[in-house]
Amino acid sequence: TAAAVTVPATRASEDRRIPAVLGSDLEVPVKGGRLVPYANLDYAASAPCLEPVSAAVAAALPAYSSVHRGAGYASQLTTARYEQARHTVRAFVGARPDDSVVFTRNTTDATNLLARSLPEGTTAVVFDTEHHASLLPWADAVRLAPPAFPGEAVRAADEALAGIDGPKLLVVTAASNVTGELWPIAALAHIAHRHGARILVDAAQLVPHRRLNLTALDLDYVVFSGHKLYAPFGTGALIGRTDWLAAAEPYLRGGGAVKAVNDDETEWHADPEARHEAGTPNVLGAIALAAACDALNATGWSALLHEEERLIGRLRAGLAAIEGVHELSLWGPDHPRVGIVSFVVDGFTAREVAEVLSGEYGIGVRDGKFCAHPFVRHLLGAKDGGCDDVTASAVRASIGIGTTEEHVDRLVAALRDLLNRD
Ligand code: PLP
Repeated sequence: TAAAVTVPATRASEDRRIPAVLGSDLEVPVKGGRLVPYANLDYAASAPCLEPVSAAVAAALPAYSSVHRGAGYASQLTTARYEQARHTVRAFVGARPDDSVVFTRNTTDATNLLARSLPEGTTAVVFDTEHHASLLPWADAVRLAPPAFPGEAVRAADEALAGIDGPKLLVVTAASNVTGELWPIAALAHIAHRHGARILVDAAQLVPHRRLNLTALDLDYVVFSGHKLYAPFGTGALIGRTDWLAAAEPYLRGGGAVKAVNDDETEWHADPEARHEAGTPNVLGAIALAAACDALNATGWSALLHEEERLIGRLRAGLAAIEGVHELSLWGPDHPRVGIVSFVVDGFTAREVAEVLSGEYGIGVRDGKFCAHPFVRHLLGAKDGGCDDVTASAVRASIGIGTTEEHVDRLVAALRDLLNRD
């Protein structure tokens, strides 16, 4: 066991300044061979690593070994760090004491794990506005059209759930990866439970921006990715009710998930955290994810929110003042959102805009349909527009810790320049 080993404290929990991100001094080549400071406005794809996250990983590198097995010091220390990371993630989302916290590779992995763990005959209810990670894993799903206002989302879920017999799961994003708009997850959880359904909340775009409390909101499952939360790639989590996960087939078959292998019988762990984490886990990823949770909590959510609102407000006001730039939104410009804004530019494809921004101004944005094809098509009013239809695409700018006023102003000025070209 790892009980004898205590994990050395890090400084992150005492530091209340907004931490720095790695790479904030990066310079990138633009047209003419000049180097300019990189304006990273693509946080919704992957957020840069926070310095305390990098420090936590560096601190764990000198003494690591496989978890849950060895008696040696490095193995015990690594196990303690891994389980502490689980504890941190549990607290980060305000999970109930009897919830499971299963480490996964990312959000997609986490939704797929839940999809494979559903009781026989479960029907998922999912809005067409979802990211593909939440839209596609379900064997049996009722798809709902994008609701015209938040109350309609609740009404549509109510109606759909009422018409389904047997186990049911409502799947919904907390914050859209396309528009940044916040969804009424507390009301949707209430409706789900009234129909005896459970709710899965895709919090991939919420947790980097807002504190989430699964218990207070009465959510059954929450999923998110470390790489959008200022940690590197390769770690995510599924947090929630233990019973379905404990009864499901192990996600992967192999060491770690088994209690005993006899000649004619394999005994799997009942505890979902072991049962669904076969093989050597991504311990450094879990440590990084937990360090990010600690760093955000330590900084204080009100300070983060204040800075984000200031910058996203400045960006949206700047875009709104440019004739020829149109922000996309489902529920109107005044609906609350996180630091994400998608838009189209008259006369240019999204790819053209993104290429000019990168190649001439050193600004990184995302263009396309953001792994949410039905939703983007809906927002653009496009009837068809397959995956390669560049006209049915948008540009997305997204901000976070490390974003500056200069980045925001550079984007607005670049779009003005672009539209003023002959
Ligand atoms: N859900 C939302 C809302 C997202 O924005 C994303 C990533 O873009 C995902 C799920 C999938 O995350 P990942 O690619 O880390 O699995």
